[in-house]
Amino acid sequence: MKITDIRMMRLWGPRIHGVGGGSAKIAKVVVRVDTDAGLHGLGEVDDFMGVRQGIAYMREYFIGRDAFAANAIVSEMLYGTQAPNPPGVRRGPMGNNNIIAVSMCSPTATPWGPVVWAASGVEIALCDLIGRALKTPAYNLLGGKFRDRVKVYLDRSSPDDITDLSAWEKMAAGTVASGFTQMKFDIDFMATECVTDVWNRSLSLKQINRIVERLTVVRRTTGPDFEICVDCHMQYNAPDAIRVANALAHLNLFWLEDPTPITNPDSCAEVRERSPIPICVGEMFIAEQFRLFIDHRACDILHPDVLFCGGLHELRRIADYAELNHLPVAIHGNGGALATVAAAHAGAACRNFLGLEYHFIETPWIGEYVRRDGPLFRDGHVVLTDAPGLGVELDREVCRQHLAPGETLFD
Ligand SMILES: [Mg+2]
Repeated sequence: MKITDIRMMRLWGPRIHGVGGGSAKIAKVVVRVDTDAGLHGLGEVDDFMGVRQGIAYMREYFIGRDAFAANAIVSEMLYGTQAPNPPGVRRGPMGNNNIIAVSMCSPTATPWGPVVWAASGVEIALCDLIGRALKTPAYNLLGGKFRDRVKVYLDRSSPDDITDLSAWEKMAAGTVASGFTQMKFDIDFMATECVTDVWNRSLSLKQINRIVERLTVVRRTTGPDFEICVDCHMQYNAPDAIRVANALAHLNLFWLEDPTPITNPDSCAEVRERSPIPICVGEMFIAEQFRLFIDHRACDILHPDVLFCGGLHELRRIADYAELNHLPVAIHGNGGALATVAAAHAGAACRNFLGLEYHFIETPWIGEYVRRDGPLFRDGHVVLTDAPGLGVELDREVCRQHLAPGETLFD
């Protein structure tokens, strides 16, 4: 089964709830891999800088290659191959826009960033495609499922009016009532009125006190059994991350996420050593970065994203290394419906899986642009089915309503 095309379709529309509350426009890009067998697979990428260029590169570079070779394609995209390279490999200028084929390393000579984000979306589409070809769910390509349903946790960021304690109470009560059992808030958006210097990576005592006050309202509303976690978005210096962790200790939080810049496992290890809250890291990591942080004893919980780590097989590989170190894995999720279902297949196939994040519960189109057997979520979970591949099809009407300017629906 040969790859005959790799196409993209960019959707966009309002995002009701985002970091810091409020609304904004957001785009999601659907990837489709076509084959000479008449079968296709669907994937998703985030519309980050360079990702669509990465997909365009992959279209030219991998046309004619074996569609079953998902691992080899991701590996070749990230690291290249030795000369004389695989049969059929492209060399020199490719396609109409003269993209230059690079066979000895990744197109950017580094496995990070847009290269792996593009490869992740294509790998997701290949898993869908291979599952359809073999008439089996994608989780079976990863060794089968440990569980029939995958727990989902909601990113809440913060209410629009962070100074209104009743808004925090309302947001917490609404999340509990919606059937989910875990939610996350953003430390860096919880008390922005107290920030006096946006550069120095610090948290003042006043800011910490407001964060504690607001999260105390959340904890009081949810009761003691609801899981709450907080995200620092890699913003803070080590001593202030430790300080806020200690100030929040009495609230019994599930994890403190990305407390310090992720370029340094040593500072994160220092925070972990002195934090009463478990440390979760890695939403933008590939496998080698997780290895570095695990080996430096810099994290308690791993947080890979199927859109950023290289896809389903890479996520499973990361989870296996964590499992060998007796560490759990939560799955970061900033994707739409398709990425969420793909991540659920991976989560089902990881023994040490904790939960899968979802950002867009207030923004229906992002959860509805693909359809599956049953709703996207049921009782705070993605329920896996026996449908082949990812078990999703485009909702053409929702896609049509949200096509970005200049885009056309897949035929
Ligand atoms: Mg995060």
